Amino acid sequence: SDFSFDVVIVGGGPAGLACGIHLAKKGVKVLLIERGRFCGGKNLFGGVIYSESLKEIVPEFPKVDPFPAERPVTEEGYFIVSKEGVVKILHTKKTPEESFTALRAKFDNWLSEYALKKGVFIAPKTKVVDFLWKGSQITGVVLDRPKSFQDDRPTEISAKLVILAEGVNRVLTEKAGLVYGPFKPEEVVLAVKEVLQLPKGAMEVRLGVSENKGLAVEIIGEITSGLPGTGFLYTNKTTLSFGVGIFLKTLVDLNLKPYELHEKAKEHSIFKELFQGAETLEYGAHLIPEWGIKGLPKLYGNGVLVIGDSAGLVNPLFREGTNLAIYSGLMAADTAFSALEKGDFSAKTLKTYEDRFKESYIYKDLILLKDLKEFLFRNSHFFSIYPDMLYQSLSLYFSAQGRYKRDVIREIFGIIRKKRGLFGVLKDFLNIGRLFW
Ligand code: FAD
Repeated sequence: SDFSFDVVIVGGGPAGLACGIHLAKKGVKVLLIERGRFCGGKNLFGGVIYSESLKEIVPEFPKVDPFPAERPVTEEGYFIVSKEGVVKILHTKKTPEESFTALRAKFDNWLSEYALKKGVFIAPKTKVVDFLWKGSQITGVVLDRPKSFQDDRPTEISAKLVILAEGVNRVLTEKAGLVYGPFKPEEVVLAVKEVLQLPKGAMEVRLGVSENKGLAVEIIGEITSGLPGTGFLYTNKTTLSFGVGIFLKTLVDLNLKPYELHEKAKEHSIFKELFQGAETLEYGAHLIPEWGIKGLPKLYGNGVLVIGDSAGLVNPLFREGTNLAIYSGLMAADTAFSALEKGDFSAKTLKTYEDRFKESYIYKDLILLKDLKEFLFRNSHFFSIYPDMLYQSLSLYFSAQGRYKRDVIREIFGIIRKKRGLFGVLKDFLNIGRLFW
């Protein structure tokens, strides 16, 4: 029928779009279904995108018009926030073309325009709610359009292969039997994010960015009230993206409201000053899948593959997500292409996707970080004691003029001893070492 495709992709984020573009370039008849008004319509916020992965699907990037990103990341680093102040660790990048800040609504939409040009069929404003089955083989998708809806658009679409790029909520991944039960509160981080418009010229003055310079900063410490989690600050062309991410479990256990935490973070003197006169343009919340290797779904089944956030492919320590989504999309597309050539869409054939994945650094990194979450829950003092200790020690160091320096050094050791103990610090370092080796 007209409503049959080689491949149906569910979800128009970076994973689904990358997969679709790669397949369409090879001449595959592929339909991408997105429930949002347009691709990116459900993704308000911004973040960092990495050129290397993007070039795999858009080789001409960054020489593209219109340009989908905001600013190149010329400085990145950490703000370590204590109650009293902040220690900024900023690294100036030698290769600013490596990464760009982006607003997803704009970026995803641009990528979907590119996908359309490459021949991907895109159905926006359409939600996939179920699968078509033939025995244990998935043979298509069911849309949420009511049967009574009298027009020529279908409620069912058949496909040789369905690729799930539905993002963190992974409802269909569960329905396909690839993961058991919903994620647990300790497996996801809830990020509250805001796009702020500062008065004209204020961003440049307050953050020291000039045209074509951009900042991407992770924030730890008092920003999450000393709880395990991070904040983030990205400079867009004319706005700032700012937010706080914290494990859902922490919010539930402490009965905290995420927006209260976000508001509290904005009340810190550092950010109060930075955001003075700012206007909120967008505000929302999104989950980040951090179930890691231990919660990894099965990546393939009969007639189905899972990519991107639905599989939990993020690396919180190295701020990776969109690039992993793209790479998994490419790996799935290669597998889909081989399956089409073979004319076999059984789990046995589709397993090559998992084989490819297991050879990639994405899988190896997930293994490397397998105990990180538990480590952070066990060692939450990294987010509370250390920022204070660092700030107070540096305060002494930077105002040591006119004093006998031995006293200053002793005082610094006194702070460390009082806050964590020299033995405690040593133990922490050893534990960090043990986590990765
Ligand atoms: P998504 O981008 O979530 O896309 C899934 C799409 O599927 C959505 O458009 C959704 O509407 C659609 N969909 C879902 N269900 C259905 C359905 N049933 N039918 C039809 N459509 C459906 N990554 C980085 O690399 N760098 C960063 O700086 C960064 N910062 C981040 C900051 C925050 C606050 C958050 C929340 C995430 C951040 N990430 C970052 C992670 C990154 O956003 C994700 O890893 C990436 O978007 C995953 O892409 P995806 O295509 O798998 O999923």
